[in-house]
Amino acid sequence: MNNKRIYLSLPRQSGFEQEYIKNAFETNWITSGGPNVEEFEYKLEECFGKESFVTALNSGTSAIHLALVLLGIKAGDEVICQSMTFSASANPILYQGATPVFVDSEIDTWNICPQFLETAIKDRIKNGKKPKAIIAVHLYGNPYKIEDVHAVADKYDIPIIEDSAEALGSRFKGQKCGSFGALGILSFNGNKIITTSSGGALISSSESIKQKALFFATQAKDKAVHYQHSEIGYNYRMSNVCAGIGLGQMKIIGQNIEERREMNTFYKELFKDVDGVTVFENSNQDFFSNCWLTTVLVENEGDVNRENLRMAFETANIECRPLWKPMHLQPVFENYPYYGENTAEGLFEKGLCLPSGNLSLEDKKRIREVVKNFFI
Ligand SMILES: *Cc1c(COP(=O)(O)O)cnc(C)c1O
Repeated sequence: MNNKRIYLSLPRQSGFEQEYIKNAFETNWITSGGPNVEEFEYKLEECFGKESFVTALNSGTSAIHLALVLLGIKAGDEVICQSMTFSASANPILYQGATPVFVDSEIDTWNICPQFLETAIKDRIKNGKKPKAIIAVHLYGNPYKIEDVHAVADKYDIPIIEDSAEALGSRFKGQKCGSFGALGILSFNGNKIITTSSGGALISSSESIKQKALFFATQAKDKAVHYQHSEIGYNYRMSNVCAGIGLGQMKIIGQNIEERREMNTFYKELFKDVDGVTVFENSNQDFFSNCWLTTVLVENEGDVNRENLRMAFETANIECRPLWKPMHLQPVFENYPYYGENTAEGLFEKGLCLPSGNLSLEDKKRIREVVKNFFI
């Protein structure tokens, strides 16, 4: 039997990527910035609607960092961050010399809990420092509780940075994830819903914020014939070659989402009659997920547990991963404040991410076999 490794999240090519890259070479636009970058931004803006302005950058991590810079986060400030996420959500807080304050998840979306968010804000204010920003994440493409979380943020007048790295194409009540926060960010890393090999974007609500983002992303050059700088800049602009990949990918973004959602249906069917395994499901129709990764919770019952299921897949050369390990449990962040109980911890113990992108019929057959053999 074919035993080629099945990966968690592989990119899929439209076939048009190389044409855009070829064009970049033929026109000698092999720089950061350029016509492909501008067209890619334009296509994304079309996707998000008139009110959205997109700055293409070299990674999602740089987009989060720039968002913090644009919000004026400085050394000594406090920034609230969803604990259950990839470290890239939190690292840029430290790049700014600010302090992360981690908040637990709630059980419906697995994202930032609005109640603990408010507890955290109140307590930080009592301690003398009002948090300057909130980083909320749409994990695995699942929108966080937009209305509840934004109600708390609005009440205390704290801007939200919406980490939409995993959620391009996801929606809440028809509105695109990435367009709710003061600033939104996307990632086009190789494992995300579309890729530029490496890349990211900042979504804002005005041309002037976009221009400001561009300024900081290209070394903060003042208007002068020589290189003149009055502020600290960054080299965060997307490359014109990478944007070519992105333009090719934009042609299949709808298909990619469709395919990931079909994988979700496949897993729901597969685990339908399996006791102790639940496929994550959005609580109602308001939440539309791109199903970037399908995730399951495995109850710990004798030999059936998360780790044994993961090992069964691994033995068949199929990659599965535990959910993101919460940041407040990470050695590098363990001394920072945390507000919550143990929802994120419980999810981390029981949760598994399943292969969700670019899978063949043969791959699905192998996945089905593993599950059938494991649960008989
Ligand atoms: C991928 C990811 C990022 C970072 O994006 P890069 O493009 O890899 O820098 C940030 N946050 C989350 C939740 C992610 O999954």
